Amino acid sequence: MLDFLGDLKRTHMCGELRASDAGSKVALMGWVNKRRDLGNLIFLDLRDRSGITQVVITSDAGAEMHDKATAVRSEFVVAAIGHVKLRDPNTVNKNIPTGEIEVVADELRILNDCKPLPFTPSDSVLANEEVRLKYRYVDLRRPEMQHNIELRHKIAIAIREYLNSQGFYEIETPFMTRSTPEGARDYLVPSRVYPGEFYALPQSPQLFKQILMISGFDKYFQIVRCFRDEDLRADRQPEFTQIDLEISFPRPETVFRVVEGFLKTAFATIGVDLATPFPRMSYDEAIRLYGSDKPDLRLPPMKNIADFFEPGSLEGLKIDPRMPLLAITIPGVGKLSRRERDEIRRLVPLLADNTTMVNPRVFEDFERITKSFPSAAEKIRDAVKAADDSLIVILGSGTPQGVFSVQGDRKRRELTYKHAGQLRLALGHGYAERHGAFKHGNFRLLWVTDFPMFEWDETEGRWNAAHHPFTSPHEHDMDKLESDPGAVRALAYDVVINGMELGSGSIRIHRQDIQAKIFKALGMSPEEQQSRFGFFLEALQYGTPPHGGIALGLDRIVMILAGAESLREIIPFPKTAKAVDLMVDAPTPVSERQLKELGIAVVGKKDL
Ligand code: ASP
Repeated sequence: MLDFLGDLKRTHMCGELRASDAGSKVALMGWVNKRRDLGNLIFLDLRDRSGITQVVITSDAGAEMHDKATAVRSEFVVAAIGHVKLRDPNTVNKNIPTGEIEVVADELRILNDCKPLPFTPSDSVLANEEVRLKYRYVDLRRPEMQHNIELRHKIAIAIREYLNSQGFYEIETPFMTRSTPEGARDYLVPSRVYPGEFYALPQSPQLFKQILMISGFDKYFQIVRCFRDEDLRADRQPEFTQIDLEISFPRPETVFRVVEGFLKTAFATIGVDLATPFPRMSYDEAIRLYGSDKPDLRLPPMKNIADFFEPGSLEGLKIDPRMPLLAITIPGVGKLSRRERDEIRRLVPLLADNTTMVNPRVFEDFERITKSFPSAAEKIRDAVKAADDSLIVILGSGTPQGVFSVQGDRKRRELTYKHAGQLRLALGHGYAERHGAFKHGNFRLLWVTDFPMFEWDETEGRWNAAHHPFTSPHEHDMDKLESDPGAVRALAYDVVINGMELGSGSIRIHRQDIQAKIFKALGMSPEEQQSRFGFFLEALQYGTPPHGGIALGLDRIVMILAGAESLREIIPFPKTAKAVDLMVDAPTPVSERQLKELGIAVVGKKDL
């Protein structure tokens, strides 16, 4: 192979040659990005992951080589041996780093041809996504994809090196295992040896990393694939990569410091210097100020303005005065036309699903508020520090339709904040051009802490765990586990960037008696506890140190740093929104023989 290189000591990358190489003999190998045939001169732009060099075949090269160059098409793989020559000043291409030189070929080898392509990496208009995913190997040759994959590599390496420098061990945990309770459906792997029994692919290494703490590996991390069978959205994939870590004897601060450290190194790969420590905010504060547990700090917070109105005036507006009344401020919007105000009204029915509990009422015309309630309007303007061109929109909860329990009212209050939070974001996106706060490069990170331990399900009339059930309650709230579960805070925290959750973690329960109490509070019978987590409850009794950790989505970090629109742009071989791999065509039916071996009978779709 490649004998034709003869005594050439090394080959060059296509993006590597510069003016200082002029005169040297070189060999380049790569793909033909473009061919231009000027009759006696043929130009081949040769491309590899490092860039592009122009190769020129002159008439001096002889008829045989000229014919070969004529036969070359886009994406042929070729080798060119020749001399580096400075280009004439008027043909220098300032847009590429190799633009000052070209390689005059003495020899051209076609190493492989290429069928006519559905699209080429040099196309300026992107093929549709299904075609890109089916021919992913061609798509990945595009410079943008090469850049994204390189960035992904650099970020992962930077994080590994940082964690290694802090004394963490990277330890692998099994893919074929038991169900982990992260709240999604499991992907199952049938056992041939034990027909009718299944392994579950891990939704996270949660229980294994806790076991590693019991085993004395006090600082664990893993950049690890997790599998969750859940309804897919643009920013979800059935398999995704987490930066997973766990620490023994930590306080939340210990985890924060480690994460801030590795995120700083990750962001440095694109030249961003993240300021640390990140701000902290309790869950309650986040809901009150941003109507979300993932606050987007790039826009101003909301303000509860219910007290600015005279008693009785809110009822007149068909607003429930017991619920918060929120002013949303978006800077730089300017005066709105009638049509633009109508568009805001049209957003309201799109807010959260549970509208019957809140029945949101929205006032998008602040001038009218000013006319009807001049003193309240002045207080509102002051309180939200609105500039003349700020948009102020008010959202409250409509007069309730029905009677709610105390828990139900608590939930309505929270939902009112959340509706306002959603409207705030929808407006923020709608007017992004005007306020400019969403431009790439404006990264606002924070920690959200003190999440509630349980969530009330009004329909079922019961409490659900807000996180996985190994999350520790606040020490001070232990006594409320039975008397007032809604007031119990969890030692759980999220790291959030620009309104997106980057990662989530907690201090864990390390005592078996408390773990059993939590399972009980969640309505899990001792039998169910044993059958689902028996091995773990047993392990907790063999000298478990206090421990805690976190997991961050690597894909999302790369997506944000690459400025990409979807996870599919930064995962080499992603699935479609319908969980299909179009390149390998998976999932597929399997043979009768395979099914039989596994003891599986497939019922027709209509029987499901
Ligand atoms: N296992 C959790 C998750 O995947 C993260 C953690 O608690 O460390 O969301």
